[in-house]
Amino acid sequence: MKVIEFLNKAKDPLISFEIIPPDRGRSADVIYRIVEELMVFKPPFIDVTSHAADAKYVEQADGSFSRKITRKRPGTIGLSAAIKYRYKVETVVHLLCTGFTREETEDALVELNYLGIENVMALRGDISDYKKSIQPNRTVNAYAVDLVSQISHMNQGLFLDDELEADRTDFCIGVAAYPEKHDEAPSLDADIRYLKQKVDTGADYIVTQMIFDNRKYFHFVELCRAAGIQVPIIPGIKLLTSRNHLSSLPRHFNVSFPDDLVRNVLDAKDDAEVKEIGGAFARKQVEELLNAKVPCIHFYVMQQAKTVKKLIQGLGI
Ligand code: FAD
Repeated sequence: MKVIEFLNKAKDPLISFEIIPPDRGRSADVIYRIVEELMVFKPPFIDVTSHAADAKYVEQADGSFSRKITRKRPGTIGLSAAIKYRYKVETVVHLLCTGFTREETEDALVELNYLGIENVMALRGDISDYKKSIQPNRTVNAYAVDLVSQISHMNQGLFLDDELEADRTDFCIGVAAYPEKHDEAPSLDADIRYLKQKVDTGADYIVTQMIFDNRKYFHFVELCRAAGIQVPIIPGIKLLTSRNHLSSLPRHFNVSFPDDLVRNVLDAKDDAEVKEIGGAFARKQVEELLNAKVPCIHFYVMQQAKTVKKLIQGLGI
């Protein structure tokens, strides 16, 4: 079933989760254990992130450096299919522009179609240190809107080879949004204009970057509605569980924290107290979002199922 169908049918806010594939070489068992912990909440869908290849410099024994290209976390499609059929839950496969040609993306979508996976999240992907060289007869999607366009075309039976007689696919398409603005966007207004292009091109729903201040989400939704974006906008929630998050999350995700949360975390006597503070803060945040009847709350679980589970159990959902 499609995410948009769940959202349209729901009378109360839904709860969904986002998980991350294991590091290359590691077993999927650790992810299955996370999913098992989360399945008690009967989520309608679980997102599985995707990761492009990256370049790293590795120091050699003689002191020189060599450039190593690795895709640290492969396996998004396989893992999504395994979770879907093992746990009978819909999975949303994240697809990226970065690191993939349109021809590779078309192949990936064909695989997903055969696997019966109906939901994809169309993302540009983070800018990586590695820029794959593209063969002259291959093409790339520059922005998420281009990827949305490719998927929408396939939903109309239009594949890259326009002479191909192709059946229509039927993917439900999610896209990302940033209540605090994407860090490369010149302004929030410009970012929302590009978001509208993604929706006008075929996106069915939106999931936001993690927010720690609900007012930013509510304000963002108002701006989007004023700009003519009518699809559901799902807030993303991440639990702050370590002091390190105060610097790492703003650096990686361009998000900010309310002053009182920062103060309380800095005053905490140990890691356990930081977790308590982060958990209590997220609980208040989620309660407010539930009362506001948001369409769904999307938890960035990554590999931290226990804290998210404790929070949801505390809410009695
Ligand atoms: P876009 O919508 O393409 O926007 C990127 C930037 O370009 C923005 O600043 C936008 O304003 C601007 N822009 C957009 N269109 C145009 C245009 N036509 N012309 C000029 N400028 C334009 N990353 C991963 O690598 N893997 C994941 O699995 C993943 N999952 C995510 C899930 C969610 C819910 C979110 C919010 C983010 C996720 N990301 C993931 C991160 C995401 O890939 C990055 O934030 C990336 O930098 C932007 O992706 P986007 O799809 O929003 O890009």
